[in-house]
Amino acid sequence: MSTVEDLRRIVGAPQVLDRADDMAPFLVDWRKRYFGQAQAVVLPSSADQVAAVIAWCARTGTPAVPQGGNTGLVGGATPAADGRAIVVSLKRMRQIRAVDAANATLTAEAGCTMVEVQDAARASGQLFPLSLAAEGSATIGGNLSTNAGGVQVLRYGNARELCLGLEVVLPSGEVWNGLRGLRKDNTGYDLRDLFIGAEGTLGVITAACLKTYPLPRAQATALLAVPALPAALDLLQVARAACGSTLTAFECFNDLCLTLVERHYPGHASPFASRSPQYVLLEISDHESEVHASGLLESLAGDAIDTGLASDAVIAQSTAQRRSLWSLRELISEAQTQEGRNIKHDIAVPISEIARFVAQTDALLQQRFPAGRMVVFGHLGDGNLHYNVSPPEGMDADRFIALQPEIYSTVHDQVHAFGGSISAEHGVGQLKRGEIARYKSAVELQLMRALKQAIDPLGIMNPDKMLPAQSAA
Ligand code: FAD
Repeated sequence: MSTVEDLRRIVGAPQVLDRADDMAPFLVDWRKRYFGQAQAVVLPSSADQVAAVIAWCARTGTPAVPQGGNTGLVGGATPAADGRAIVVSLKRMRQIRAVDAANATLTAEAGCTMVEVQDAARASGQLFPLSLAAEGSATIGGNLSTNAGGVQVLRYGNARELCLGLEVVLPSGEVWNGLRGLRKDNTGYDLRDLFIGAEGTLGVITAACLKTYPLPRAQATALLAVPALPAALDLLQVARAACGSTLTAFECFNDLCLTLVERHYPGHASPFASRSPQYVLLEISDHESEVHASGLLESLAGDAIDTGLASDAVIAQSTAQRRSLWSLRELISEAQTQEGRNIKHDIAVPISEIARFVAQTDALLQQRFPAGRMVVFGHLGDGNLHYNVSPPEGMDADRFIALQPEIYSTVHDQVHAFGGSISAEHGVGQLKRGEIARYKSAVELQLMRALKQAIDPLGIMNPDKMLPAQSAA
């Protein structure tokens, strides 16, 4: 019996793709840096079907690569080029199983997109606060497997902090039902936390019990032009003191980011009369009223201009204006892609060290790779920057990408020296497997391998992702 026939018996014939054209979108990552092959792409519709598929993988020794929206940025959902694996796409598992407003929880299947979960929460008068630019396609299973961050971590935490319980299909094909909606549960090892951020290497998440929050009464959004990164960091301290927990987003980007958005998305332009080296997008989510929210933001922006922390400010006066300010931030990643190939770093350092980190690392890069263009933006309020480098104008992209190992080690050595992380929110996938071997201690790597061996002794779950090859450490 062939692989495809076996799988068709489990999930139904139309849900197993094996023609090259049908499989193609599942075999390349969002950035088109990794191209894989697979025996088939399988689209189960229930946890039982996922369990039967994975049990079949265990029996036949077939690698399984879980995939959600395929928006990951580190090649984690792309199978290897040897074509042995099957891709298990969770796209058809998109039921909202329960909404419990009194418990402030919502239980969603792993293939629900973030927008579907946000909408379901809103329909019950609640907020599901996880939000990022790919939210129309990215799934809850992918968010949890990468422990995604996004634009409201400052207030609500990352995906891990928003998850109370999980349902997981283990590499044996057994189902672990840990879908508990408890805020307190000290009954042994926290199994849930093992699977969050595991990038599909320990099992397939099939459903999650997620936290919801009261919907804010009003949101006020401002874009401020700031003279430099240290001023943006001072502004963060001022905003925190003035707004407390109503400060829900504090994002930054440099002027080149704005230039790229304007160049590749002509409908989107700077609202300021003159250019500024840096910009801060900040948002307040208020539980009192529109008047209170806009009053708070107006006084914050006015004080920032009076004290020289900002040179100009625009406060959104309507939902359309709010969306338009956010789009300047959200389009940066795609504008950089349109500009051409580039080298991305998803780094975190302590907030107090960010300005020093950027100044020193910029100087080092300029010394070693003159004229590289720094496209730096991110979640300043979380100490997380997308510290990206585009080639100098006119440089051949392949020649530039060949410098990736040297640029990586320059930036990542700096991150390490500043006590930071080389993967703040995107995960490790294929892109940074080799890199983490350089920075994780032998004890950490040994513990990670011991966990992998205990849970997936056959090594069938998303092999060759996240954990460095044995020879690398
Ligand atoms: P996929 O890409 O399909 O998979 C990602 C990883 O999770 C893979 O290793 C895969 O094997 C595994 N996986 C997927 N589903 C499951 C499952 N059900 N069970 C087990 N493993 C699974 N990320 C951020 O954190 N913050 C941002 O601000 C952010 N902004 C982005 C902006 C853009 C424009 C884009 C394209 C991406 C951005 N990302 C961001 C990255 C990406 O959107 C997130 O990592 C997202 O959480 C991935 O979800 P997905 O469903 O697309 O996962």
